[in-house]
Amino acid sequence: MTTFTELGLPEPVLRTLAEHGYVQPTPIQAQAIPVIVSGRDIIGAAQTGTGKTAAFALPTLALLGPAAGKPRCLVLVPTRELAVQVDENFQKYGKYLGTKTALLYGGVGYGAQTKALDDGVDVVIATPGRLLDLYEQKILNLSSIQMLILDEVDRMLDMGFIEDVTRIINYCPKQRQTLLFSATISDTIGRIAGWALQNPVTVDVRTGLGAADTVDHAIYPVDVFQKYDLLLALLQRSGYKSVIVFTRTKRDADRITEWIEGHGIPVATMHADRSQSERTAALAGFKSGKFAVMVATDIASRGLDIRGVTHVINYNVPEHAEDYVHRIGRTGRASAEGEAFTLYSPDEMHHLQQIELLLGRPIERRKLESFRYYSEPQLQPGGPKAANVSRKRNR
Ligand code: AMP
Repeated sequence: MTTFTELGLPEPVLRTLAEHGYVQPTPIQAQAIPVIVSGRDIIGAAQTGTGKTAAFALPTLALLGPAAGKPRCLVLVPTRELAVQVDENFQKYGKYLGTKTALLYGGVGYGAQTKALDDGVDVVIATPGRLLDLYEQKILNLSSIQMLILDEVDRMLDMGFIEDVTRIINYCPKQRQTLLFSATISDTIGRIAGWALQNPVTVDVRTGLGAADTVDHAIYPVDVFQKYDLLLALLQRSGYKSVIVFTRTKRDADRITEWIEGHGIPVATMHADRSQSERTAALAGFKSGKFAVMVATDIASRGLDIRGVTHVINYNVPEHAEDYVHRIGRTGRASAEGEAFTLYSPDEMHHLQQIELLLGRPIERRKLESFRYYSEPQLQPGGPKAANVSRKRNR
């Protein structure tokens, strides 16, 4: 079994790991850290929840060494929330190196970010738009960047950042080390890696597209007009400590928030129409336990590391099968047990079939005992495609 000491990490970093009770590297860490420490470029195929942030933050800190006060590492991430999380990781593990970070994202004023840059930083963590903005205003200089880390590249592309990311890569010095992480490696990502990385090593720790093994997931078939009632009944009976309810639309998120709050349960709400301060407050309240329930659109389904989420409830079947995997990945993190329930009405059959095809198996249908269903729920996976899925699995 590999230990952190064997991975070539310096003492000030090892000390922080011991303080956080990290005993053993996760697979992505065991494979990626030695490659990065040796100075090679890397393509890391890993989902969130695998310990991938530490897999790049620890060796980066090892390579940067003590604080030097000029930006030597740039981490590009798709969302503000992920930026905050990556920043927390660098600060946590860089504590004894005195590493200074700047967190640059849009939707807030420039003052604090400009000041952080003026004060001298080692690591810049940024979303693409604001980074370009500060670079083009000449507030940020990228000429001292030695390491470029592109995190959740698939998500950045989904969000339409390809041109921004391309420009930023071109603004960085050619002599640099580049680390690219993504949950999926599409052709486009392969092409970016082809010109932005030099002779990279690929490390792939994906277990198919399978959701975390520690998550128990189930489909609850129900008529669409009983979804609110079933959602409430599931919440009341699931024994949750911390639950995220995912909705497809912002409107649904607001309505469900009202519905749940109307039953005396405090709720945090996350979606793109909420202001940055509302989103920050919602996330902080949810993380601290002030709100045991968070209602969110997919903005919260990727990347966010929230400890102790015991349940994920999908109010709708996600339209994109991969979103299902990301959503249920919010629970069962770092080997904790979790449950993921999906409310399913017959009009969502197509989306469910896509998910089952992606997972390579049907998801168990369940009925909530003692809930007053208006019509008997269909517990057999229906439709010809679902039948194919079961046959495939039994082969
Ligand atoms: P990530 O995939 O980077 O979002 O990390 C998922 C969670 O696992 C975070 O809460 C990390 O703090 C935690 N973690 C990362 N590496 C380890 C490790 N080697 N041992 C225990 N927990 C870890």
